Amino acid sequence: MNQTDRFCPSCAATLETEDVFGQERLVCAGCQRVIFYDPKVAAICIVHREGRVLMIRRATDVGYGLWGLPGGYVDRGEVVEKAAAREVWEETGLEVETKELLGLFSDEGNPVIVAAYAARETGGTLEAGPEALEVGFFDVDHLPELAFPRDQDILVRWRDDLEGTG
Ligand SMILES: [Zn+2]
Repeated sequence: MNQTDRFCPSCAATLETEDVFGQERLVCAGCQRVIFYDPKVAAICIVHREGRVLMIRRATDVGYGLWGLPGGYVDRGEVVEKAAAREVWEETGLEVETKELLGLFSDEGNPVIVAAYAARETGGTLEAGPEALEVGFFDVDHLPELAFPRDQDILVRWRDDLEGTG
């Protein structure tokens, strides 16, 4: 559980923890509403130049100062591929076109599901956006310190796919 809400969004009564459908969930003491938390979807891109991959040094709270693949949360109603490309542009100044989906990455207890795409550079100028301290291309075997270990798994999948298709 990573729920922090204390009051019912319907009637504002206090929420209590109960076992519902096999999980601890918040239930309203007033109207009995059960609060279900949806996962969040993030989309990231692997953009490469001659085998080196684009990474950003994060300027945002989680993993501040550490490095990660460019990407971010998908807005409700937004096409996932467009969100992935939008985030790359916002964070790195590069315009990209998303190509194949490398996979969906999720972990037990983690609310974030990551959709990882291979992407092709189509334009723009490499420059750190407001959510990045630095941007750069790195050799997969010599990556900087990562904010999320999952990025390593995604890069391994990407490299395996490349080798598989020649
Ligand atoms: Zn209620």
